[in-house]
Formats: sequence, structure tokens, C-alpha cells
Amino acid sequence: MNLLLVEDDPRLGPLLRQGLAEQAHTVQWAQARGVACDALRGARFDLVILDLGLPDGDGLEAVRDWRASGFKTPILIVSGRNRPEDRAKALELGADDYLPKPFGLAELLAKMRALTRRDAAEDAVLVHKGIRLDLVGRHVFANERPVELSDREYALLVHFMRNSGRVLTRTLLAEKVWSSHYDVDMNLLDVFMSRLRGKLETALGRPVFRTVRGIGYRLL
Ligand code: CA
Repeated sequence: MNLLLVEDDPRLGPLLRQGLAEQAHTVQWAQARGVACDALRGARFDLVILDLGLPDGDGLEAVRDWRASGFKTPILIVSGRNRPEDRAKALELGADDYLPKPFGLAELLAKMRALTRRDAAEDAVLVHKGIRLDLVGRHVFANERPVELSDREYALLVHFMRNSGRVLTRTLLAEKVWSSHYDVDMNLLDVFMSRLRGKLETALGRPVFRTVRGIGYRLL
């Protein structure tokens, strides 16, 4: 798994990073909330492990902000705050689970497994405002009516559904849909986007994408 570990404790941080790396996970260690925000913008993680008391702010505020801006990555809170109301607040704001400190590595690994299993099951179907995408059967429905998409239109839509709320750059989209961006004609990307948009807007009767001029597109 690709993990983002947000922990400012100078002893616990490296210890967890090493323990997780030994289990064949890739770990990016962030010691502050700001660093974690930058990391989340720059890469896709399977799980965020988040301490609450951070030098530049509270982890709970980070959870709220990330969820508000559409990040779907599971978040596991690890904290010394262990009152039921702390846990309830964390889950309410969009965290997925809560592991009180101190904990053992085995306990952390078990929580991680449970969380990502849940994520994988939910990931088989992506839903966003009337659009339902069945990844197993490769079907797309708009208001429960099937929509026929070409392979590239489908690949584009998967990526938008997994990153709803975010502006996706044309370069990034091209990389997702073609294996390399070097041989991609950006005009062709715009043609695929325009077809995908046309099909979905006809089916849903509302705007589906916002074009961010010179940058890319956002799923509405
Ligand atoms: Ca801390």
C-alpha cells in the first residue's frame, strides 16, 4: 500500500515508518499538517494515518478540510486523545477509524487491512450525482439508464469519479488514458472529453463538467 503517515512525534514517526516499510508498504512521512496537505495534492495514497496533535494545527481540521475538498482516501486516526467524544467527532468529520495510542504494530496493521478491504468493496461501484459506474461489469448508468461509452471515454470517467471535486489537468488525464503523454495529441483528449460530456449531459439534463480554461476539467 502507498501510505501517508502524518505524525510529528520524533520517536514514533520513524518507528512506524520503519515497521510499515518492513511490511512492504511505501510510506511517506509528514511531520506537519501543511506537509501532509502538499503530499495529498501531489500523489494518490491508499490510506492516511493521521495523528491529531500536530505542530501547525489540529488533525481533525485537516480531516474536515480534506473531506470538504473531495478527498476519498481512507483516514485512520492515531491519537492519545481517547475520550468517546473525541472518537465520535473524528468519525463524524469523515475519518474512517480510530486507533488510540499507545498501540502495537500488529494492531495498526489489522486496522489498515480492515479499512482497505472496505475501500476495495466500495470501489467496485462509484457513484456521483446520478452517475453510477460499475467497475466490475464495466457499465455506466446516468439516472439508472445505461450510457454507452468508448474505452477512452470510460477511462476518463473512472478517473473523474475517483477524484470528484478536484480539477484534473489535461496532462494528467492524458497520462491516465494513454500510457504516456509524449505521444498524445491534446486536441484528441479534448475531443474525447467533449463526447463524454455530450453523452452524460444528454442523459442527465445538466452540466457535468466544468472546463477550467488552460488547465483542465472538474466533475460537477
Ligand atoms: Ca502529535
